[in-house]
This record gives sequence, C-alpha cells and structure tokens, in this order.
Amino acid sequence: MVLRVAVIDRDACNPSKCQRECYRFCPPVKMGIPAVEFKDDEPYINEELCIGCGICVKKCPFQAIQIVNLPQELETNLVHQYDINGFRLFRLPVPVRDKILGIVGRNGTGKSTAIKILAGKLIPNFGDYTRDGNIDEVLEKFAGTQLYYYFKDLYNGRIRVAYKPQEVYLTPKVVSGKVKNILKSIDERGEYDVVVDALSLDEALDKDVKELSGGEVQRLVIAAAALKDADVYLFDEPSSFNDVFQRMRVARYLRRLASKRYLIVVDHDLAFLDYISDFVSVVYGSPGAYGIFTRP
Ligand code: SF4
Ligand code: SF4
Repeated sequence: MVLRVAVIDRDACNPSKCQRECYRFCPPVKMGIPAVEFKDDEPYINEELCIGCGICVKKCPFQAIQIVNLPQELETNLVHQYDINGFRLFRLPVPVRDKILGIVGRNGTGKSTAIKILAGKLIPNFGDYTRDGNIDEVLEKFAGTQLYYYFKDLYNGRIRVAYKPQEVYLTPKVVSGKVKNILKSIDERGEYDVVVDALSLDEALDKDVKELSGGEVQRLVIAAAALKDADVYLFDEPSSFNDVFQRMRVARYLRRLASKRYLIVVDHDLAFLDYISDFVSVVYGSPGAYGIFTRP
C-alpha cells in the first residue's frame, strides 16, 4: 500500500493557457472515474482515485503537478497539510532545553513550516486542511512524547519565543532609525553591550538601518532576537550575508545563548550547523510537495 500525494502548484498552473492536459490524458478519467476534476476552472486530483501513472506530470505544459508515492505508514506522521493537493509536512524536529537543535534540508521541504509550528505561529492540522489547527488535538497527538511538554508550555504561555526570520533583506524597508537606539529599546535582558561586542556591531551603532551592509543587517536582526527575554530562540538562516569570520562570531554567541533555553537554528551552511549544533534534524522530500523530518 502506498500513500499517494498529488500536489498542484497553483502559482504555476494556468488553465486558461493550457488544453487541460491533466484531465484529458488521465487514464481513470478516460474510463469515467473522476480522478481529476475542475471546479471553478481549477483542477483537483482525487488521490484515492488517482493510480499514480504520472501522465499528467509529463503532459502539463507548466510543470505544475507532482505525484509522489510514499510508504503508507507515513500517513499517521502527517503533521500539516496546507490545502487539497497542497504541500504536506511529516513529523517535526524535537527541541531540547539547554541544547542547540540544527535543522537542515532543501528549500521548499518544510523547514519554515516546522519553525512556524514550533514558534506557535501555526497550529498543525494533521492533514485536515478544511479547518484551522486545534491546540487540544496537538496535545493529544503528541501525548507521551517530548513534543507534548514543549507544546503544552508553549500554548500555556509558560515559554516565550523569540524568532529571527529568514527574510532579513526586508528589514530596511520596515525598520528605520539608528542601530543603537533600536537595540537599546528592545534590550529585555540587559545584554546590550555583550551582544554588540559578540556580534561586532560596534561600527554599525551610529548608522541608520538603511546604511547597513547585508551582513550588518543580518547581525542586527540576530541581536534583536537575542536581546528578547525568551525561552525559545528560533534563528532562520543566521549565517547568510556574513563572511566566515562573522559566522564564527555568530556561532559562538548563539552557543552561549543556548544555556538553559531551547535554541533552534535552520541553516544551509553545513559547516556552520556542524559547529553550532548539539544534534541535527534533517528534512528530506520534494520541494513544494512534501517534507519528512528524520526521527530524533
Ligand atoms: S495542472 Fe497543468 S494541465 Fe492541468 S490545468 Fe493546470 S496547467 Fe493545465
Ligand atoms: S497520475 Fe495518472 S491517474 Fe493520477 S491524476 Fe495524473 S494522469 Fe490521472
């Protein structure tokens, strides 16, 4: 038995400029079985009726379809599905207090989805994309595991999250002012001097955010997250835009920050992750279609 995953990239799919090849060439459709249907001019693939032949994948002129066969056992590990024929995430990485969890994997395989779930910004729906996720269901699903205690504390407000997003290039568009004023205004831990020194932000302190180099913006955003008084620190791609020396400074500082806290780092730089992490969780899959986290 296989778990059929049919994903349609809605941005790529363009029914007004194709001949609806996904429908016309589908063998079950030709036999009167509605494996592909159009609703409001959008195609939908019924995964229970699809036979996984892959003809629609080859025929679609916009490469909008992925059909994947996964082991049936994975079905019970489905954590989140965005939509019908949408991306699916299986399993989650497991944070451990006092340790740095590194996360590595190709883009589009669910790293950001996992981070949002661990930050409490997205409640997983366990595959029922027709409704929002439910906190009680999350606790029930993870009962008896380390993640149960993590989510219980997160949802009860007993742990606070600080998040460094990946898209630091947006910072100069939404934040203005001098670096030192920004950092002082968010210093909840009284660590301003330590963080400025550790991340070598001294020369940037009197600059406006718009005058910063890419590496300085990155370190400013890392500093802003690190100065928050939190129990969980999530850093998405902290090594980007920095040279190897700056990366080592960032890594050394994050290692200090991890003491008595949860610290999760997503990064594409394997040497950086190898240096910084106490353990690493790998996510593999097909970009845009599915991602599977390795077991802890
Ligand atoms: S999936 Fe491909 S063939 Fe089907 S409607 Fe979209 S663009 Fe056309
Ligand atoms: S994989 Fe084959 S059976 Fe499934 S929707 Fe595509 S053409 Fe139809």
